[in-house]
Formats: sequence, structure tokens, C-alpha cells
Amino acid sequence: MNSFMEVLEYVKEYFLEKVRNNELSQTAYNCWIKDLEPIRLENDTAVIAVRTNFHKKILLSQYESRLLEAFEAVLGFPVKVEIIATENLSGEEDKDILKPTYAPKEVSVEEPSFQSGDFIDDRYEYTFQNFVVGSKNEFAYTACKSVATSSTVKTYNPLFIYGPSGLGKTHLLMAIKYEVKQRNPEMNIVYTNSETFTNDLIYALGNKGIDDFHLKYRHADFFLIDDIQFLSGKERSQEEFFHTFNELYLSGKQIVITSDRPPKDINIIEERLKNRFESGLLADISYPDTETRIAIIKRKAEFLQIDIPDDIVNFMANKLKRNIRQLEGAVKKMKVYKLLSGSNPNMSVAQNVIKEILNENQPVDITIDKIIEEVAKTYNVSSEDIRSKKRTGPVSAARQTAIYVTREITQISMKQIGQEFGNRDHTTIVYALKQVEQLMKTNAHEKGIIEDIIKNIKNR
Ligand code: ADP
Ligand code: MG
Repeated sequence: MNSFMEVLEYVKEYFLEKVRNNELSQTAYNCWIKDLEPIRLENDTAVIAVRTNFHKKILLSQYESRLLEAFEAVLGFPVKVEIIATENLSGEEDKDILKPTYAPKEVSVEEPSFQSGDFIDDRYEYTFQNFVVGSKNEFAYTACKSVATSSTVKTYNPLFIYGPSGLGKTHLLMAIKYEVKQRNPEMNIVYTNSETFTNDLIYALGNKGIDDFHLKYRHADFFLIDDIQFLSGKERSQEEFFHTFNELYLSGKQIVITSDRPPKDINIIEERLKNRFESGLLADISYPDTETRIAIIKRKAEFLQIDIPDDIVNFMANKLKRNIRQLEGAVKKMKVYKLLSGSNPNMSVAQNVIKEILNENQPVDITIDKIIEEVAKTYNVSSEDIRSKKRTGPVSAARQTAIYVTREITQISMKQIGQEFGNRDHTTIVYALKQVEQLMKTNAHEKGIIEDIIKNIKNR
């Protein structure tokens, strides 16, 4: 076992996170990232190997910046990346290049034997067994488990899970998939998310493949769809989803949906679809309480085989309250620290790790800044005006759009949005949202503009 190998596993994990967030396709991951081989970490250069020159070329042209970013995220400092194509190496001397030059670490008895693939291939960590149940997710957990283990009768269909980001919705969906697969290997379980659904549809429409598309989605025995809120504003996808949903629903197939908000707050999705969602079982997940956060840190630490003393666990639980992904990230960073330094993290390491994590996750106002900036640019008004109480036509319109976009792409509460936009009260915000929704329904041009703004912000 060597530590660079583990670092590379974390780098791959970083890319998998992008897959989960729809920033990278699973296929791209499998083609280019999955098989990267660790060679060595030397001074400030990470040397990795791939088999072919072609592979190397793609990595350098398409993935270099993301690789650098991933290594920096894992190691906590930037490194250069060197890629070796092993097909170029013929003679025995050449093969020496591949020999690791790092000093072998002292092997201690409790050192974990990290199998590559533990995290990567099967995502076995996303199971019910690995889901820590607390008061705020218990209902959703029980509902998911019941849906996954019930034999035939669908008591709740669809099951609709909602709650803010980072609280385990995707985990539960994967757990259902895994459990159902274990029990019924022949079952056709379709797991997708709004993004993939939309992309598949676009591809199908452009390639005369709509029959294949229907075959893929309408023949599911078990249909899981993640992050349905992203269907907002995509009418063709919504329509297609509506038919898929109906067909599956009417033939008694189980459907599980996740979203970051309840059906009634999903914008633009057809009323009849909202009603269908609401007629199933709604289960929300909210921010975990202290005991659950502590239990999660301990579970993740155990999983990564690292000892974290209780006072540090408590400290972490008190600092990271609103996102389990962050809690997990903190434990992983501590693990990397241990791998690189050889010693168990202490309180000051924990403080640094938490500071880093909080910096990575931009505070609310920066996000709103970006939104306002983008909207201001589009409407040709100033950011200050958008934040002000001014009511001239263009400024009001820009402000309403900014409010709508904020509500659409962030988790920021109505109250807080009001505060950010010239200290307006809740009703004004609701009014603004209604106005924009109405506008988008009747004015395709305006709708396109707003969708572009959202795209731009997401891609920044
Ligand atoms: P969401 O889909 O709601 O944004 P995820 O399911 O991606 O959140 O969860 C984020 C991370 O936190 C995942 O790595 C997941 O395994 C972990 N996680 C979330 N909730 C729990 C839990 N109750 N127990 C253990 N791990 C959890
Ligand atoms: Mg998710």
C-alpha cells in the first residue's frame, strides 16, 4: 500500500462527485478517469500513468485543469501533473520509470488496507446500511426502505423525497437501487436525473432515436429520478416526463422522485403533475440534529479507518451543521492529512480543515452577488440599483428576475432573499416570483433570457 495510491483514489472520488452533480458524465469518467494509475508524487509533481497515447492526449487536452483542481482539492496544495503512456515503454529500463520512488511507509498494524475500488466501482457506501438515521431523515429513510423491500403492492406511489442539498437524497435513491437489484436481479431499474433525462431526450430528438428513448424510460419496472427541480423551464422534457410518469404510474410501476423542494414549490412543472406528486407519499429531509451529525462523523471516520477524538468530533459537528457532504469532506481531509503526515489529526488540523471547507462553499452573499451581477449585465442596469429600493421600470424588472433566479438556483429562504434585495418583505418576494413565472409562461423570449442567465451563473 502506498499513500499516493490513496491520494489518487480520492482524486477519482472527486471526479465521481462531479458525475453525481452532473458536471461530468459517467461514461467520460469510465473512459478517462477510472483507470488512471498512480506512479508517484515527487516534490510538486504527481505522476500518473495511462495505457495509450490517445488516452494521454485526451487527458491533457480535456481534463488537465480538472485534474489539477482535483489534486489540489485532495492534497490541499497545487501540484503539476505528469502523464505517462505505458504503451510507449518497451524495454525493461523504461519500465523503471514506473517504479515508485517514494520511500515506503512504515507499515503499522492498524494501517487500513485500502482496496482500490472500495469507493469507486460499486458505490457500496450508498446503501441503507451506511445511512445514519436520525430524527430528521427517519421518515424518508423508512419510506425508501419500505419501497425497496416491499414485494409487489405499491402503497405509496410515487414516493417523493425532498430537502436541501447534501442531506442524503441521492444516497437514499442509490440505496433503493442497490437493494432492489439485490433482491430482484432481473428487474429493469432505471435510475436517472433531470439532466440525463433531458440530455437523452435531446439526443433522441436529434438522432431519430425517440423510440429508443421510450424503450429506455417507459419500460422501467422501477423508476428513480433524482433532482426533478431541474426540469423547471424545460418544457419538452417535462412533457416527455409527464408521459413517462403516467405510463409507469398506470401500470403500477414504483416511482421515486427527489427534489430540493416540495412539489408545490417547483416552478412551472405542470399543475397536473404536481397533483400526481402530491397524491403519493411526500417525505422531507431536513438539517440533521447534533446527535446525528456526531454519529455521521463517527461512521465516516470508521469507514475511512481513522481515529478522531471525541472533542474534535464535537467541534466538527458544531461547525458544520447544514450539509452532510461537508461533514464527510472534513473527515476525508483529515484522512488525507493522516496519510501524508503519518500522525492523527489534532484540534488545529481540524480547525484548518473546517476553515477550508467553509471557504470552498461560498457564503450566501457571494452567490447572490454573482446572480445580481449577471442579471445587471443582461438588463443593463447597475448591481446597486438591483439591491436598492428604486422602482423605475427596468430596475424593477431586473430585480424581479434576480429574485426569481435566486429562488430557483439557491436554497436561500424567502426572508433572506427579501433582506438581500432592499429589505423587502416576504409578500413582495412572493409577488416578484409570481410575476416572473407568469412572464415566462407568456413570453418565450423573456423565458429564454432568464434561462440563459441561469445557465451562465451555473457555468461560471
Ligand atoms: P443530496 O442528494 O441530498 O444532495 P447526497 O445523497 O449526495 O445528498 O449526500 C451527500 C453526502 O452525504 C453523500 O456522500 C452521502 O453518502 C452523505 N450522507 C448524507 N446523508 C447521510 C446519512 N444520513 N448517513 C450517512 N451519510 C450520509
Ligand atoms: Mg443529490
